[in-house]
Amino acid sequence: MIDRYGREITYLRLSVTDRCNLRCRYCMPPEGVEKKPHADMLTEDEMITAVEAAASLGVTKLRVTGGEPLIKRNIVSICRRAARVEGIREVCITTNGLLLPEMAEDLIEAGVSRVNFSLDTLDPDRYAAITRVGSLDRALAGLRTALTAGFRKVKLNAVLIGGFNDDEIRPLAELTLRDDLDVRFIELMPMPGGEAFGQESYIPVTRVLEALPGLRPEESDGVARLYRLPGAKGRVGLISPVSRHFCAACNRIRLTADGRIKPCLHSAEEVSLKGLGFAEMREAMARAIMDKPQCHGELSADSRSLSARGMSQIGG
Ligand code: SAM
Ligand code: SF4
Repeated sequence: MIDRYGREITYLRLSVTDRCNLRCRYCMPPEGVEKKPHADMLTEDEMITAVEAAASLGVTKLRVTGGEPLIKRNIVSICRRAARVEGIREVCITTNGLLLPEMAEDLIEAGVSRVNFSLDTLDPDRYAAITRVGSLDRALAGLRTALTAGFRKVKLNAVLIGGFNDDEIRPLAELTLRDDLDVRFIELMPMPGGEAFGQESYIPVTRVLEALPGLRPEESDGVARLYRLPGAKGRVGLISPVSRHFCAACNRIRLTADGRIKPCLHSAEEVSLKGLGFAEMREAMARAIMDKPQCHGELSADSRSLSARGMSQIGG
């Protein structure tokens, strides 16, 4: 479906849970998110009906996210059923990867072809500090599994935070030397629920180009500007939601675990699908797509996202 600004919406991000086994400082409060009544959350059948409604409107790509999608009890079944929906060509997952070693095989068998793996640092103390509860060893075991299990593509997403990991740009980027892995640096976004970082934390991803003068530009892919280190198997990507937003090319809508369609990540606008059948969901979704804002306002440490929800309740 084409929205009123001429953007073709082909991509749905489905958050299957707002809960997580980590507590990343930029994403969640230390105590986690408030538990919502089970009855308020989408059931597996409702999620699949929503995917069917989206596919009937032209969505071809589904990304399963969270919270942490791998802690959802029925995640393999959701992925398997979603992958079979007519019109869906690709099911991808975004994960912190801690549970991948025990789940990768089942996910692949269910039809998940691509993984985006979130990892901001290669330093064990920093990993424990940014995730509040995580162990880098487990994350690295998950990354190794992601790279060897047989997914068609693996990307590593690192949130770039001034004063925290901007001195790790090279080691993170050099993960692309040996493996066919795309490492993408993403600008920190000022979201509700996340810690209030100071202005100096919001650094543009162009800092990566300064740190790695050897990067060679490649053809860009969706929201990421892509580069390659000499001789590397994988690519380095820059994603700049703050310094250079990509609203004009935005092809996505989001569905939260409690059934709200968010036409724009940074707008407070939401449309509820909870309790609706296929035809009503399709109609509500079409309305949300037509009402998708042209652009979100500026974002900075002082000018926070207008989203009413934090990232863990949206899915990134
Ligand atoms: N738990 C999964 C994970 O971490 O990959 C999926 C959900 S998480 C909300 C999706 C992505 O959002 C992660 O890559 C995370 O780094 C990113 N994210 C969360 N809060 C962010 C923020 N304030 N700014 C930029 N990216 C953020
Ligand atoms: Fe959990 Fe992902 Fe948010 Fe980290 S970024 S707290 S792993 S949902």
